[in-house]
Amino acid sequence: MQGRIYLDGNSLGPPSGDQAGRLADFVTSQWDADLIRGWTSQGWWEAPLRIGDRIGRLLGAAAGQVVVGDNTTIMLYKMIGAGLNLRSDRRSIVTHTANFPTDRHVIDSVARATGVGVRAVSSSDLIDAIDESAAVVVATHVDFRSAERFDMAEVTAAAHDAGAVVVWDLSHSVGAMDVHLDACDVDLAVGCTYKYLNGGPGSPAFAYVASRHLPLLDQPLPGWIGHADPFSMAEDHRPAADVRRVLSGTPPVLGLASLDIALDRFDEVDMTELRRASLALTDRFMDLADRRLAGYGFSVITPRDHERRGSHVSLSHPDAYAIVQALVAAGVVGDFREPSLCRFGFAPLYLTVEHVDEAVDRLVTVMETRTYEADEFAVRSTVT
Ligand SMILES: *Cc1c(COP(=O)(O)O)cnc(C)c1O
Repeated sequence: MQGRIYLDGNSLGPPSGDQAGRLADFVTSQWDADLIRGWTSQGWWEAPLRIGDRIGRLLGAAAGQVVVGDNTTIMLYKMIGAGLNLRSDRRSIVTHTANFPTDRHVIDSVARATGVGVRAVSSSDLIDAIDESAAVVVATHVDFRSAERFDMAEVTAAAHDAGAVVVWDLSHSVGAMDVHLDACDVDLAVGCTYKYLNGGPGSPAFAYVASRHLPLLDQPLPGWIGHADPFSMAEDHRPAADVRRVLSGTPPVLGLASLDIALDRFDEVDMTELRRASLALTDRFMDLADRRLAGYGFSVITPRDHERRGSHVSLSHPDAYAIVQALVAAGVVGDFREPSLCRFGFAPLYLTVEHVDEAVDRLVTVMETRTYEADEFAVRSTVT
């Protein structure tokens, strides 16, 4: 096997073969051809909800509960704020310290703005930390560093037992595994679309609102696009009855178009099968890491238990940064995460066991020949 092996689809998925042509076609046959009429004639107005339903199918969500727009950071702000408004008698937000930095920043900001407290605990203590003061529990389903996966049903039930609502961040889950939002009785969720969904750099995020919460959902960034009657240009904000109320400003139509194209690749996909394929890839990689890489000082920090694992694998090594750079030069793209992790994403949609074997062969060669010790691989770039 020759050529590039891409193990970073958990950070930015690749375009499909027809992505460029279809995006170019969007510009000519929709934007240029219809201009302002495109909002209705081409369905741009409905696109955030229509595409939301396409994503909802991958998440075990019935139609009408998922909407696309903004980015994950902004959607988190809205969903955490909305969660607090659903539990306005409560005084705290509970999260885990290993949560993604943007999630932590948003939690702290919402807490400051609303005067509630934040309890951040280790992942293993999350359930115990949910007490009667908790308004909202914010958790990322799959840890971006270790790939450790929470039990969604268990954490959600614990939140509900204490009277709290839960906001799940699905950025490292959606498009890589089956998720069952409705069956787990989840309240609110958000996630990225440029990772395993391959929507393109900066493609818009999604938010899920369980239909039981929709009538009362009060999110903190109301705008005209989420108004019940935007072109009434009314002075007062009256939220749309449906999940459109989550939207604030004008949707990113080009990003939506790119995401819409990318989702075609998931149409025929059974998510349970996809999860099986993902586990086969990560099992294979972890097995090879034990047998062929441990001798070079790598240790697998990703959980072995299938139930507790996402779709990437992280190896700890003191020279992780230089090794990742040398491996990229050898045609295997993974990434580095502080403090000392080589992270490899296994997107089951387009990777095979042969890719895994070849990637490990090349990593063994990098270690054997010590190419990672070259000066050029020691310099840190802005995006790692
Ligand atoms: C990738 C990721 C994000 C990214 O948020 P953006 O607003 O799209 O930059 C947020 N949260 C988690 C858990 C992520 O993995």
